[in-house]
Amino acid sequence: MPALLRGLFVVLMLTAPVLAGQTLPKTTAERSNYASTSSNDEVGAFLDSLELAGAPIAVSELGRTALGKPIFFVIASDPPVTSPGEAAAAGKLVVYLQANIHAGEVEGKEAVLAVLRELAGPSRDLLRQLVILVAPDYNPDGNDALGPQAVNRSEQNGPELVGRRADGLNLDLNRDYFKAEAPETRASLARVYEAWDPALMVDLHTTDGTLHGYHLTYSPPLDPNGPAGPTDFVRNQMLPALRKTLQDKYRAPTFDYGNVETPLVPKSWDTYAPLGWYGTNYVGLRGRMAILCEAYSHDDFRTRVRVTHDFLIEILTYASLHADEIRRLEREADRQTALEGAGLLPRPGLAVAYKLAGRGVEPVVLEVMKPNPDTGRGRPPLLPTGEFRTYRLPINDRFVDSLTRPLPAGYFFPAAEGDVAALLRLHGIQVRRLGAGWTDTVEVLTGTQLKWATREFQGHHLLEVTGTWAPLIRTLPAGAYFVPTAQPLGRLVFALLEPEGYGLVRWGGFDRLLGGEFGALSGLVYGSSAVGEFPVWRAGRAPRAPTRLLP
Ligand SMILES: [Zn+2]
Repeated sequence: MPALLRGLFVVLMLTAPVLAGQTLPKTTAERSNYASTSSNDEVGAFLDSLELAGAPIAVSELGRTALGKPIFFVIASDPPVTSPGEAAAAGKLVVYLQANIHAGEVEGKEAVLAVLRELAGPSRDLLRQLVILVAPDYNPDGNDALGPQAVNRSEQNGPELVGRRADGLNLDLNRDYFKAEAPETRASLARVYEAWDPALMVDLHTTDGTLHGYHLTYSPPLDPNGPAGPTDFVRNQMLPALRKTLQDKYRAPTFDYGNVETPLVPKSWDTYAPLGWYGTNYVGLRGRMAILCEAYSHDDFRTRVRVTHDFLIEILTYASLHADEIRRLEREADRQTALEGAGLLPRPGLAVAYKLAGRGVEPVVLEVMKPNPDTGRGRPPLLPTGEFRTYRLPINDRFVDSLTRPLPAGYFFPAAEGDVAALLRLHGIQVRRLGAGWTDTVEVLTGTQLKWATREFQGHHLLEVTGTWAPLIRTLPAGAYFVPTAQPLGRLVFALLEPEGYGLVRWGGFDRLLGGEFGALSGLVYGSSAVGEFPVWRAGRAPRAPTRLLP
């Protein structure tokens, strides 16, 4: 929107209750009595009004989308800070709230705007302990691709017009955290995770899965390969405390995120995939805390905004009261990960395959379902009955490893893979380049079998790699890359580079060397490599040759 028009919006929106002599704006949802949700321009206008009214916020942009729209980024702090260094010097914990990654799931966007407004008034005390970063409309292209809810969010209870799930490149941003193909992901990796290293991230969604009796469901990071300390704190301390507060203070029932596979005869309550392609799982791999928040699609829009808002306020309150403990757990996770990579602590076995696991049987409130007598084409097979019942079900709220590989000292890959090296740098990972040749025994995946999925997913045919690891003497030429795990992001290094896992290999990161999707495995790397050896090698120790850190 041109500045002039934006100004007009600002004037039009100055109609809300007066606080401390200033007029604070209302959200589009509030102004429309929850009939509609904010466009990206309206988000910008709201933030401008709030800043002009003296709220303790600074509005900037994370970057631009494929369609050139600004991704608004807000720093809420009191007194103002403009950098992570200033936040650390002031002893503040940095928290990042992200809304609208799936842009049809709109209540998070309205809720974070309301939270930002409260930071000007009743909730300003939260800024004594916290610096709060907010991306209120993380997916502006999806947000503004308005369509009838019946098309974009068929099971959602309002508002009538909502955006679509994918971004302007038709990517699901919540599958993009490893490969980082979307401008939104690249911007947030650089300008949020690498720049600010938030202690806690909250990702706001709406679930239209199994019909249940909760206003909101939540999940900690699920990849067991992340450092345990921060994730265990979220899972065992923070989320149970928040659940109790939401019930006691707001009469809002909440529970762990999950679905039942067989709704007619519910057998277990199962969470979703643990992969780091998803935002909160990704943050867990970085050794930071994260919460997935899923408002209930079948609640009306006003209820969803309210419960998401209340959950956010309580998360922020909890974080501010436990700031020292959160900081201590994360520092300890960084230290331990780096020591494991260096071999100064035992190197853990980490998962390349996972299985669902549980915490025991608990009551779960579900809506009773019945078969649909109308079996016509396109009709849902099951219908809700309006009756809610409490079932006692196994709560499968986590994953454990079903196949592990030990964390290596690092990974070698060929000089030709500069794109992979650049992507690792975008993730904030230290990457080294050999200044001279180095000969050593390394672990090589031999007899490699490559299997590309026949179906396309997010523009890729995912690659599954199997083989047998063998210790072999190999010479690495100058220019080859070495990525050590002796760094705070060492477990993310494993997640991204372990060939048999779900990392960059899966997404075609090394396809060029492998002959491409559906291509033949031929002419592999490092000059003399035999056919059948995979080009990413595991290192038992760091090279004793000169290396240079990539800038
Ligand atoms: Zn979602």
